[in-house]
Amino acid sequence: MRIHFWGVRGSLPTPLTNAQLRNKITAIVQRITPEDLASEDARENFIQNLPEWLTTTVGGNTACVELDTDDNQIFVFDAGSGLREMSYRGFEESEKTIHLFFSHFHWDHIMGFPFFGPVYNKNFTFHIYSPWPDTMNILAAQMEPPYFPAKFSTCTPNMHFHLLESEKPVKIGDVTVVCKKMFHPGASYSYKIIENGKQFVYATDVELTAASDEEKLKYKEFFKNSDMLVLDSQYTIDELYDKPNWGHSTCCHGVELALECDIKKLYLFHHEPTYDDKKINSLLKIAKWYADSSGKPKFEIEAASEGMDVLL
Ligand SMILES: [Zn+2]
Ligand SMILES: [Zn+2]
Repeated sequence: MRIHFWGVRGSLPTPLTNAQLRNKITAIVQRITPEDLASEDARENFIQNLPEWLTTTVGGNTACVELDTDDNQIFVFDAGSGLREMSYRGFEESEKTIHLFFSHFHWDHIMGFPFFGPVYNKNFTFHIYSPWPDTMNILAAQMEPPYFPAKFSTCTPNMHFHLLESEKPVKIGDVTVVCKKMFHPGASYSYKIIENGKQFVYATDVELTAASDEEKLKYKEFFKNSDMLVLDSQYTIDELYDKPNWGHSTCCHGVELALECDIKKLYLFHHEPTYDDKKINSLLKIAKWYADSSGKPKFEIEAASEGMDVLL
């Protein structure tokens, strides 16, 4: 399977600000020495060796992750503003059936739906999954006047809604999908995808520490032995204590979970909108340091960023 991140930000779309861009330029200029400017090769070498957080950005679009299965199905997790970017990816004739899974319906997870071109194209078919029986009405409500100019009734008629049950596996083609209810205001559901012996988990908007002890054991069972875990890591430890029951986790709790569950790749996700690239990079460093200090076998940790591709 192949995973592509279209939107990684939590809560609210977060464009790079002029001040943040200027800070990056200032930090780059401060690093330049006369030798770095001596030749074209030296200049290129200088740019290549800059820290990644200075030359790239994790991006500002909200939650949307595509997973292309080995049996050529397109799965999408959440319809945050990142889904609009996915409109421009180009779709082969064989790619006009899209399976869309919702973790929950907070704005940052649904706002991209009315901006996704294919929903208005009758050549596309959508299978939409969630554990909420009124999913269609919820999606339609955000397209009612005065919120949006095109009503849900203008969408492709090939829109099929499927009701899932927590912890009850379903088969879609060759792929097994299981969702699991998580601690979040109003609840959120994580998704586990199993295909050809590989296991991917999408777990956004979950406060790992707020769950009951009994639930925590169930979480571990659900996440166990995943090849890749995309996990809500919005807060620092300080913020978590300032914002109890707000429904989000920290990178350090993600590391602890990954160690306990033998996760192979941990992707920090649902980045806090007030954090710039430098801060998110520092959280990634903390997570790596914390994992190393455990003395346990190493696993891969990344901060999810827009445009990132991962092959499993
Ligand atoms: Zn969210
Ligand atoms: Zn939420």
